[in-house]
Amino acid sequence: MTPPWRATILTLFPEMFPGPLGVSLAGKALASGLWELEARDIRNSATDKHRSVDDTPAGGGPGMVLRPDILAAAIDAANVAPDRPRLLMSPRGRPLTQARVAELATGPGPLIVCGRFEGIDQRVIDARSLEEVSIGDYVLSGGEIAAMALVDACVRLLPGVMGKEASGAEESFSEGLLEYPQYTRPQAFEGRTIPEILTSGDHAKVAAWRRAESEALTRARRPDLWGLRAQQKPPKDTTKG
Ligand code: SAM
Repeated sequence: MTPPWRATILTLFPEMFPGPLGVSLAGKALASGLWELEARDIRNSATDKHRSVDDTPAGGGPGMVLRPDILAAAIDAANVAPDRPRLLMSPRGRPLTQARVAELATGPGPLIVCGRFEGIDQRVIDARSLEEVSIGDYVLSGGEIAAMALVDACVRLLPGVMGKEASGAEESFSEGLLEYPQYTRPQAFEGRTIPEILTSGDHAKVAAWRRAESEALTRARRPDLWGLRAQQKPPKDTTKG
């Protein structure tokens, strides 16, 4: 039997986990063994009596930098299988996408390093081939919340986690589009009604309306995504009449 998907987190604050990952969809799946979480304290690899893990930046400047020898020892002590991705949460990293999330969710599950301070020494990033991943163009105070976002996005795609297998298929980004607007009862809310087509019972028309709304929203809000779609579309076959 294949072992469940596993996230191994290296952090200076293991007490932050499972945190929000311990409730709702991800929490129920964790409790029922659909995935596993291991939060390891980087400080356990410190060697001096003060258990120090950081030092001042070479070349000067503010803040502190996580030492390469301590972090490398922490990564090695985690002893993760070589086929597991090794990620470093980092604002300098490649922005996380739904496509990368889906890839990570189909694999055995990543080891994730959470940075703190000004960041971590470049030599351990290189020596342990860490893949830098960003969750957006803003700076958090540590990698833990970023790691939680990544793990949450992966876990909900694991088989058996979401109620309906199909519910991931039509979501934002699944086809490079943002999701269409959703409505539910009551039929009228503060004078606003549900678009008639959604209560018509005509499934083809509902699907066409949703598609058109998705496309309009993506064009208006995310010209970057819309442009990518245009690039990826196969050229029209002009040989047919
Ligand atoms: N000095 C770094 C820089 O300017 O790129 C920022 C360091 S930040 C204060 C500390 C840690 O938070 C980083 O090492 C990283 O692990 C995490 N972090 C901050 N912003 C992030 C983001 N947008 N995505 C992923 N991780 C982030």
